[in-house]
Formats: sequence, C-alpha cells, structure tokens
Amino acid sequence: MKEKKKLSLAMQIFIALILAIIVGLLLQGHSSIAENYIKPFGTIFLNLVKFIVVPVVLFSIMCGIISMSDIKQVGSVGLKTVVFYLCTTAFAVSIGLFFGSIFHNLFPVVATTDLSYEVKGSLSLMDTIVNIFPSNFVQPMVEANMLQVIVMALILGFAIILVGEKTHRVVSAFNDFDAIFMKCMEMVLSLSPIGVFCLLCPVIAVNGPKIIGSLAMVLLAAYIAYVAHAVVVYSLTVKLMGGLSPIKFFKGMLPAIMFAFSSASSVGTLPINMECTEKLGAKKEIAAFVLPLGATINMDGTAIYQGICAIFIASCYGIHLTLGQMLTIILTATLASIGTAGVPGAGMIMLAMVLTSVGLPVDGIALVAGVDRIFDMGRTTVNITGDAACTIVVSNLEAKKQAKLAARS
Ligand code: ASP
Repeated sequence: MKEKKKLSLAMQIFIALILAIIVGLLLQGHSSIAENYIKPFGTIFLNLVKFIVVPVVLFSIMCGIISMSDIKQVGSVGLKTVVFYLCTTAFAVSIGLFFGSIFHNLFPVVATTDLSYEVKGSLSLMDTIVNIFPSNFVQPMVEANMLQVIVMALILGFAIILVGEKTHRVVSAFNDFDAIFMKCMEMVLSLSPIGVFCLLCPVIAVNGPKIIGSLAMVLLAAYIAYVAHAVVVYSLTVKLMGGLSPIKFFKGMLPAIMFAFSSASSVGTLPINMECTEKLGAKKEIAAFVLPLGATINMDGTAIYQGICAIFIASCYGIHLTLGQMLTIILTATLASIGTAGVPGAGMIMLAMVLTSVGLPVDGIALVAGVDRIFDMGRTTVNITGDAACTIVVSNLEAKKQAKLAARS
C-alpha cells in the first residue's frame, strides 16, 4: 500500500495561519465566540510552551557551554554573540527612528486628552541590571525569570568546566536531561498548527480592519522598518559573515518566522528556531547557546517598534525630538530590549522606560496599546530572525577559527 505523504510542520503552520485569518474575518462581530471558545486552546498551547521553556533554556545553555569544554571558546562565542546582538539592536532603533521621522507628517493627529496608561513593572535602568542576578537558586525557575535562568546556566556551566573530569557523571546526566526536555518540546511543537490557529483567529476577529485603519500609518511605518531591517541587516550579515545565501536563509527560516508571527513569543519560537538554524548548517552547541540567549536579550523588532512609537507619541503631543533625545532613545531602547521578556506584549511595557528617558508622557502608550498585538507579531518575527542570523554568523566564524587553528598545528 502506498504510504500517505505527511505534510511538513511548516506547511501545516502555514495552512493554520491562512485558516485563522479566514475564520477570524468570518467571526467579526461575533468575536466573543473566538474569545471564549478558540482562544483558550491557544492559551493551553502557550502554557505548555511556557511550562517547558525554563528547563530547555537552562539545560540547553549549560550543555552548550559544557560541550565547548574550553573556557576560551565559550568566551569567544559569548563575546561575538553579545557584540552582534548589541550592534544590530542599536541599528534597529536607528532604523525605527528614521522611518518614524519619514512618516512623521503622515501620522494621524489623535486627541491627546483623556489618555491614561498605568505603568506596570520596574522601569529604572539600574533595577533592570540588578534584577539580572538571582538571589535564590529556585526562584528564577519558579518565576520563569529568563535572564536570571541564563545567569544560573552560565555560572553552573563554567563551574562544571572548571571542576573538569570529576563531573563526567553530572555532564552525562545533564546531556540526558537536555535530550529529554528537547523531546518534550518537540511533542509540544507538533501541536503548533492548532496553537497558531487558536492564537491568531481571536486577534483577527477582535481587531478587524477598523482599529487597524486609524493607526494604519504607524503600523505601516513599523512594518516597512521591520522588513527593511530584516532584508538589509540580516541578508548582509548572513551573506558576508555567515557564508550563507540570504534567500536560502529566509527560506530555511520560514517555519520559525510563521510561528513567531502567530504566537508573538520569541521564547515560544525557540525550539522551532533551533531546528531551522541547525538545518541551515549552524553547529548544535552554538545554536544551543546563542538562541536561548537571543530569545531573552536580543530584540531588534522591539527596538524598531520603540523608536517608531517614540516619534509617533511625541508628534501626537506636538513635541519635536532633538538629536540628543534621539541618541538617548537609541541607548535606552537597546538596553530596554535586553530587559524585555520574549513573551507577547512585553515590549509595550518596556516602551514606558524609553519614553520616560526622554521626558515623553508615558500615557502616550495608550495610543498604541489597542493595536499592540499587531505590532507585536511583526516585532517578534524580526526578533527571532535576528537571533537566527547571529547563530549562523557566530557558527561560521567559529568554524573558520577552528579550521585556522587546526591548519596551524
Ligand atoms: N513579543 C516579543 C517577543 O517575544 C517581545 C515584545 O513584546 O516586544 O519577542
């Protein structure tokens, strides 16, 4: 008997995406159906992803470090990764400010009275830095505080390398745990077409074209900037430093891109991103280190969004931003993106920090809050594509370095 050909996960996600848009549009005016009966299944899917993401990040980064077995190599990979992440993010805010300024005159004049936005979470820069370091061994895992989980993974990974041979039993146990959690992730991932449908359909049903209409210009500016950044920066870096054709890169990234767009969560997209980058030729141990780090600290899309929203909010209040203020925005948005969690909506909370840094009214966030999900889908897509580009680049640079060393000895 002829075996039935199974649709690839990417194809399944794509079909789910199209179906979600069609059903979402059909349900307009009856959005409560989508909210009450479809969204909960999307929430179940996101819960499963969140449930598994802490052990995946912890063991993946730890095992990534251990497998490099040499502190110098970890340092070299870590340095390249952080430099890539910071430079591309600073560039991303600048692109956001640039497109914001170009579109500035086309932004709608929105009544600025009666606005209020309650600031949640910690906003000070120093608090953000202090909060990176855990004060308790268990709390970061319980609270899924990803930056603290990363610090834990780094400390433990380094300690294991330094103790050396004696730890071989622990190393093999950790590798087993890593494999088990990855398997769990794979199982959760196989549900992603259903997750994608149930997450996206209510967004379309609730938002519909009318809310998008009034903020169309800001959204358009953001999406043009997202695409410009992805096409220019990632194509160039992947081509010049990663030795990979940009077309191949974006084609290989499609499943992760579609998933990020629908889920608006970098952390949730992590496993699918790992699969895509490994298929594109990145080394497993490098992807295991660079991607979880990127899903937590590298947010180019969020940085673009913050740049554009700062200009938009300023223009709604009739404020003209000076060059000095723009430079401050570049600095704070770059740092804010490090503190932004890779979950839906986090970037909007951090926008408050950027606005405060240049004295813009935080209440202005209310102007964009209604369509945040639509901004978020695009910015998450850029966020994870940036992580993948960095993985390809670092993996290629490290491979070249190893080859050089091998040729010398
Ligand atoms: N949702 C984004 C992400 O997961 C973060 C943000 O809200 O900007 O990457």
